Amino acid sequence: MKFLDLRAQYQTIKTEIDAAIEAVVRETDFIMGRAVNELESAVAQYCGVKHGVGLNSGTDALFVALKALNLGPGNEVITTPFSFFATVETIILTGAKPVFVDIDPRTFTIDPTKIEAAITPKTKAILPVHLYGQLADISTILAIAKKRNLLVIEDAAQAIGSTDRGRRACSFGIAGCLSFFPSKNLGAYGDGGMLVTNDERLAKYARQWRVHGAKQKYFHDFVGDSSRLDTIQAAILLVKLKHLDDWNTTRRAKAAQYDRLLQPLGIVTPYVRPDVTHIYHQYTIRVPEHRDALAAYLKEHKVPTMTYYPQPLHLLLATKSLGYHVGDFPKAERACQEALSLPIYPELPDKDIERIAQLIGEFLSTHQ
Ligand SMILES: *Cc1c(COP(=O)(O)O)cnc(C)c1O
Repeated sequence: MKFLDLRAQYQTIKTEIDAAIEAVVRETDFIMGRAVNELESAVAQYCGVKHGVGLNSGTDALFVALKALNLGPGNEVITTPFSFFATVETIILTGAKPVFVDIDPRTFTIDPTKIEAAITPKTKAILPVHLYGQLADISTILAIAKKRNLLVIEDAAQAIGSTDRGRRACSFGIAGCLSFFPSKNLGAYGDGGMLVTNDERLAKYARQWRVHGAKQKYFHDFVGDSSRLDTIQAAILLVKLKHLDDWNTTRRAKAAQYDRLLQPLGIVTPYVRPDVTHIYHQYTIRVPEHRDALAAYLKEHKVPTMTYYPQPLHLLLATKSLGYHVGDFPKAERACQEALSLPIYPELPDKDIERIAQLIGEFLSTHQ
């Protein structure tokens, strides 16, 4: 059994993918080629916003969004302590100070009821993460941001296609940041990312930043970076984007099957907020006791699982200088002890889900 089987997915779209790659190679259209523009328009339209700017990675999308919004030394950005490191890393890279707010234990996303208490005169932005494929409580976050005059930047690396009241991730904040890392729901065959926004100035800045700050080649207006999305990756993503909704729907069906089999065992299955569509980038259960023993038991039986994330962002060596301590964000810390992600992907055989549920049942019967 595999945690994620990208080869199985490739088999279903091989003809289209091979043709798309070949076309780029044939035209030696490697850098900023036609597919990049096409993908930028297609993804922007898909998300319901005006502009898309293809970049090297989701990390770069976060970084350039923060930079374009002038965040840096003296500013504070409120975010979640329960995410992939890039979320906080990019804030630190700009020179701004990340300020964590604990999560809602049901959704694993930032708890908006705790945001206002963390706002200071230095706070400039809120950076929610739509973790595991479900939007954070974005309408509440937007209301707070509006009232307190703050920017909202969405880390939607795990959530392309997820909705809240019919609107897609990346269409709520001033900027949305997408990752095309291979394992994401819309994954390239290498690194890639995109900044999506309705803000013309921001899009313009990002387009220039990704080519060393030059509007015109060799005329550099500011210090940027080298962060383009490869044409080959864009061509692959254009093929895959057409399948994304179907794949996300199938992921939901797989999640429903897990729910059906695991809930009778007393397992805490993913909580889905009302009015949202979850795209199940991960299917993450909570195991309050013996999480690691369960993972080991499953591994023994050839079922791979993952712990997203074993450490909260405030207790990492890299964030030590922020001065946080154990106990500062108990909900996030607890999630690190209890969260266990099970295999989920559109091609995952139903019988694998049955087998996983059966193994979990066996484990629980000997550990309660
Ligand atoms: C994957 C991910 C990123 C970073 O994306 P890369 O393309 O790997 O740089 C950022 N935030 C979250 C929540 C992610 O899952």
